[in-house]
Amino acid sequence: MKFETKVIHSGLETDPATGAIITPIYQTSTYVQSSPGVNKGYEYSRTANPTRTALEKNIASIENGKYAICYSSGMGAADAVIKLLNPGDEVISNKDIYGGTYRMFEQVFSRFNLKFTYTDLTKVNNLKKHISEKTKLIWIETPSNPLMNIVDINEVKKVIQNEKNIILVVDNTFATPALQNPLKLGADIVLHSATKYLGGHSDLVMGALILNNQKIYNDLFLITKSCGAVPGPMDCFLALRGIKTLYLRMAKHCENAKEIVRFLSNHQMVEKVYWPGLKSHPNYKVAKNQMNDFGGMISFQFKGNDFKLTKRFLSNLKLFKLAESLGGVESLISHPFSMTHASLSKEQKKINHITEGLVRISVGIEHYEDLINDLSKAFNKLK
Ligand code: PLP
Repeated sequence: MKFETKVIHSGLETDPATGAIITPIYQTSTYVQSSPGVNKGYEYSRTANPTRTALEKNIASIENGKYAICYSSGMGAADAVIKLLNPGDEVISNKDIYGGTYRMFEQVFSRFNLKFTYTDLTKVNNLKKHISEKTKLIWIETPSNPLMNIVDINEVKKVIQNEKNIILVVDNTFATPALQNPLKLGADIVLHSATKYLGGHSDLVMGALILNNQKIYNDLFLITKSCGAVPGPMDCFLALRGIKTLYLRMAKHCENAKEIVRFLSNHQMVEKVYWPGLKSHPNYKVAKNQMNDFGGMISFQFKGNDFKLTKRFLSNLKLFKLAESLGGVESLISHPFSMTHASLSKEQKKINHITEGLVRISVGIEHYEDLINDLSKAFNKLK
């Protein structure tokens, strides 16, 4: 089945009780048993819920995986992945990752005798340098948040293909399965903040993991039902509804992004635009190879790197809303330095070029001319 068809049909069955075409919101915590242990496949909603099951089947299918598990947030999903590890294990992570993931690694899990090493995985030689017998997990975000660096998933897989005990995790939040299929490229686990493009309407918080390996799935299932970071049925319903238009939305996000990148690249106040579809992007060729399109996330650097000027620009905007998060139908803008990546140390910010003058845009699906007008007016007010 093609992606456009899968988003609409996969995992969804006509409701056997009523014929309802849409999966009902099974707003229930528990399920009646006819005798102890005899049930209809559901016993308690922390373990499983029919609305969630439908969503998990749908997400597994669109990511070309056998299994999916949904979580109450993207960080809930990331937390479950790290709980696969044992004290003493080591993780190698791309240096350019979402600030919340970095905070969880450093401020929560490093207390449990887990070691996290950050390196530039756009160059696989860095992976070779850091890998040891203690390495049990590799963490990639591609495109990365907020600088849109692209890691060659397949090249990373090649380095570890003989290492059966190393799990390769790819955070596919920015690309979505509409643009990139990490499982096909060698990832063991795909992670989503479904809060973003999968949900697509800025109305839910959710995470998802997708994978093929049954042993890892069983381990994750145990962690999930034991630790309990599961989403409620209403959010699962909203995510199922959002995913139906994922293909269409992503096409429009990408189209709009191209226009906005063109505008920003020619603007005198902009020093640099970060978007993997630019031929000048250092990983352009990799992006072209492993993605179907270049996505709707853009960052740019103000000339002069002036914090006050950047703040004024952000406040001048009308259509672009200054807010954390991304991937909704409405355009959002943010300041990674003081918002999404505020928890990074000064040094980490410096290494990753997260400066006072860096702005991140999540391009929505409005008409691009209106978006460009809004940006243009906000720039003009600075003069
Ligand atoms: N991964 C990426 C790339 C993100 O941008 C985010 C949130 O911004 C997360 C993970 C965490 O997801 P959530 O906010 O749903 O917990």
